[in-house]
Amino acid sequence: MPSMSSLLIHSVYKDSEIVDVLIQNGIFKKISTHIPLNSLDTDTKIVDASQKAILPAFYNAHTHAAMTLLRGYADDMSLFKWLHEYIWVQESKLQKEDIYWASRLAILEMIHSGTVFFADMYWHREETIRAVIESGVKATIGVTFAENLMDKNAIEKNFDFLKEMKSVHPRIKLAVMPHSIYAVESDLWKRCAREARNLGLVLHSHISETKEEVETCLKKTGLRPVEYLESLGVLDENVVLAHAVHLNEKEIQILKKRKVSLVHCPVSNMKLSSGKLNMKALQKAQISVALGTDGAASNNNLDMLEEMKIAALLAKTEGDPEVLNAKEAFSMASLAGAKAYQWNAGEIKETQDADAILVDLNNERMLPMHHLHSNWVYSADSRAIHQVICNGKPLIENKKVKDEDLILENIRRVHHDLKNRH
Ligand SMILES: [Zn+2]
Repeated sequence: MPSMSSLLIHSVYKDSEIVDVLIQNGIFKKISTHIPLNSLDTDTKIVDASQKAILPAFYNAHTHAAMTLLRGYADDMSLFKWLHEYIWVQESKLQKEDIYWASRLAILEMIHSGTVFFADMYWHREETIRAVIESGVKATIGVTFAENLMDKNAIEKNFDFLKEMKSVHPRIKLAVMPHSIYAVESDLWKRCAREARNLGLVLHSHISETKEEVETCLKKTGLRPVEYLESLGVLDENVVLAHAVHLNEKEIQILKKRKVSLVHCPVSNMKLSSGKLNMKALQKAQISVALGTDGAASNNNLDMLEEMKIAALLAKTEGDPEVLNAKEAFSMASLAGAKAYQWNAGEIKETQDADAILVDLNNERMLPMHHLHSNWVYSADSRAIHQVICNGKPLIENKKVKDEDLILENIRRVHHDLKNRH
């Protein structure tokens, strides 16, 4: 029998008590106040976690990882201008290898800020897949559809890829990702939904990000974006929609009825002046909302700690400080994202994927500890992160992530190459 890989996190703070956490084969096997050392396999690695807290890791439910390469390239303008005059122009120059290194940079940044999972929508997904496999994190990788940027052949290739590569790696799921209602027409939307259902995959898209999107949809179809998708019959519990900034009550009721999950991207929405998601109304309707950073070109980082605090603060700007409390904000940044993309993860719980952050309780921003969640959501920054674990594997060693220097060196090179490319 092959030896199983085991890790014991010894003496760690969890939910107001000190526990031992045994991880076997990437799963939380046992969580208990005392696991006797003599009960362990001889090759179990033991990590002393005194003065550390174990918390669920972050699950970034909407991003475009490789856009780290366009970080700071075009700021302070509207989504339309940003996309058409800057981002799409620059993206057309990107080559496969650029995407690989940009994805590695994104993952490096994510690991250092406690994220073990991201849902990605971009081009050259093979390169992002390679980056995920080599980095040790997990991801739902989108096969992206955009009719304005693709010919018929490319669309067929996408559907073939979904079928052939569905089980590419245990740490990767694929998802069907029609970019938006303005980049994909109704027939292709219906086909995307059909294929997603047949293959048992999540369907993810952008929705109602700007007022212009809503107005254009109304003009073209007589319906608002969510009503339009409902009329196509594509909404169900396997659908995850990002942004959802401009919804009316009728649309909220449709999303509730169809059990659609949403992804809130507060920083991107604020930076592009897209508007503000109505957290109170969505909570009232008990719609599941996860959290995402969106791409680094509109954020400009992938830091879920920062995103979580901003989400909590933004939700309170309408005069109700009780909306989205610290625990809810953290759950949105962790469990909700894992659930939306159908991973058995997001909590420190037996039988779940062993994903976790070990937080240094001696970090100055974690003291004094009246409430752990309060410190984590409202006070901490990434420096309090001692270790990040994905599927039972620690991803930080001596404060560094695997290949860290190599990644930074290649980003400098790719950036230099890009400037000279026309
Ligand atoms: Zn996006």
